[in-house]
Amino acid sequence: MDAQLQEQDNLEVSLRPQTLDEYIGQKTLKANLSVFINAAKQRNEALDHVLLYGPPGLGKTTLAYILANEMHGNLKTTSGPSIEKSGDLAAILSTLEPGDVLFIDEIHRLPKQVEEVLYPAMEDYCLDIVVGKDSATTHSIRLDLPPFTLVGATTRAGDLSAPLRDRFGITSQLEYYSLEELSQIVARTSRVMNTTCEEEAVKEIALRSRGTPRIANRLFRRVRDFAQVYNDGVISLDIAKQALDRLQVDNLGLDRVDHKYLRGIIERFRGGPVGLEAIASSIGEEPSTIEDVYEPYLLQIGFINRTPRGRIATHKAYEHLHISYQQDIFE
Ligand code: ADP
Repeated sequence: MDAQLQEQDNLEVSLRPQTLDEYIGQKTLKANLSVFINAAKQRNEALDHVLLYGPPGLGKTTLAYILANEMHGNLKTTSGPSIEKSGDLAAILSTLEPGDVLFIDEIHRLPKQVEEVLYPAMEDYCLDIVVGKDSATTHSIRLDLPPFTLVGATTRAGDLSAPLRDRFGITSQLEYYSLEELSQIVARTSRVMNTTCEEEAVKEIALRSRGTPRIANRLFRRVRDFAQVYNDGVISLDIAKQALDRLQVDNLGLDRVDHKYLRGIIERFRGGPVGLEAIASSIGEEPSTIEDVYEPYLLQIGFINRTPRGRIATHKAYEHLHISYQQDIFE
């Protein structure tokens, strides 16, 4: 991992809220989780398995840490693509202790044969291991696991196989954060990082964070750099605006890739409809990045529509980019 990524990782860890009370937003989910946690604790059982889905940076990993904390267990983290063989997963499962939380990020990318190891682990807290060298000696042995909670995170609930999805007792979609909630997150980050950030500047950063806490924290750190160099470390509205403009984040939080994507649809494909692959390759981005990271927010703010024939840029997108909207007469 390079130094910059490591720095970002360390900071993310220090900025993570530790308890459900400190976790801002996602009100319904929080209220429900609080009931499930209390009930499980009263019965002295592990919390049921939890599936969290939604775009990156909305707080899925943070929630997994909080669940482990609230259940007084340890958190073990891994991810779908990093578990190649069933043995890799068995090795992780066998280290669990009662009440632990196993977090699997990008769970939709678990290989099929690994997924099958999870079924009995989730349902009966046990592990079936095949031993023996040849067909004559091969047999399976069953190992008991302690009661644990699996927290799965995915950007695409639709890509999860039905048998895996059905084994989660609690399934929840994380929502984009409101301006008010993001302002609270930025204000908290400013306190944790010992920085003076004026109220109007807090709001400006929140406004440009695409409804996403991770982006809010990232923008905050960069704005803080500008404030340090140009304004004795004080983040005023003026400094925040200048910094965010320099970072090419517009007044709705759209960045260079959003702009490239929208302009691509409008200028190269006459506003659409255009297929995901075509628009992604025309702007040199990965289709999965476009689909998981960029499109959900553009859909949410009504800048694109997804139709069976492809993506269409809406009137609102044209307006925002100051491009005049011409209905295609051949449509
Ligand atoms: P995900 O796992 O969904 O990609 P993370 O849990 O890693 O997102 O969240 C990214 C960062 O955003 C965290 O380091 C944390 O500082 C911050 N964050 C996320 N959700 C919240 C929240 N509800 N309240 C405060 N900070 C949050």
